[in-house]
Amino acid sequence: MKQTIDGSGNVQFGTVRDSTVNVNTYTSDKYVQLTEDNSKTLKLSLPKVKYSAYVGASKFILTVIVGNALVLLNVSNLTKILPILPPLLVLVVIGAAIIWAQGHFDDFRRNRNRPRNGNSFAFAGNNEILREDRATNSITVATFSGACVYPKCDGDIYLMWAPDREKLAKGSKFVGICSKCGKAHSYRVDNNFIATPAPDMDWSPVKQEQSK
Ligand SMILES: [Zn+2]
Repeated sequence: MKQTIDGSGNVQFGTVRDSTVNVNTYTSDKYVQLTEDNSKTLKLSLPKVKYSAYVGASKFILTVIVGNALVLLNVSNLTKILPILPPLLVLVVIGAAIIWAQGHFDDFRRNRNRPRNGNSFAFAGNNEILREDRATNSITVATFSGACVYPKCDGDIYLMWAPDREKLAKGSKFVGICSKCGKAHSYRVDNNFIATPAPDMDWSPVKQEQSK
């Protein structure tokens, strides 16, 4: 089962338990208050972010549609010249679309994940927490971090999207992992940015049949 692969983290943890640390005490007593790194906080104009996201998406879609249409129109001729040319050109078109829209990817991601439905903040991927300020029509992009508390680790905790099973079981959108040991040092993070070690976190993908 997939869990065996995922169990690599648990194996590591098992050795810790074998020494002296009691797992239950360890997971319930220790937590980390993640703190905002003010030097990295950005304040962005919301209309500008929205516009840039729109421009980026338009550039990308336009390049892919027009570029691939040109390739397909010429497909019989191109295939005669060199059979590998059409698929190669499709890749070139997608590459060109990525390059042209490149400067807009962050704005697209932020616009897509900004706080909605009256939430005071939202996770936007890439270790970013977004807050919307309606008075100034802007969004604040904040970065949180804290020191990893797993035994003997000196890594930093950063935020990432929660794995599927964590989303389903706990409804959490984001979790913390360690800069040194990755998913083996997982954390549940609450809305006050308190990170609690979660060595039991299941990172195995949800099988397709569940969504049917
Ligand atoms: Zn760690």
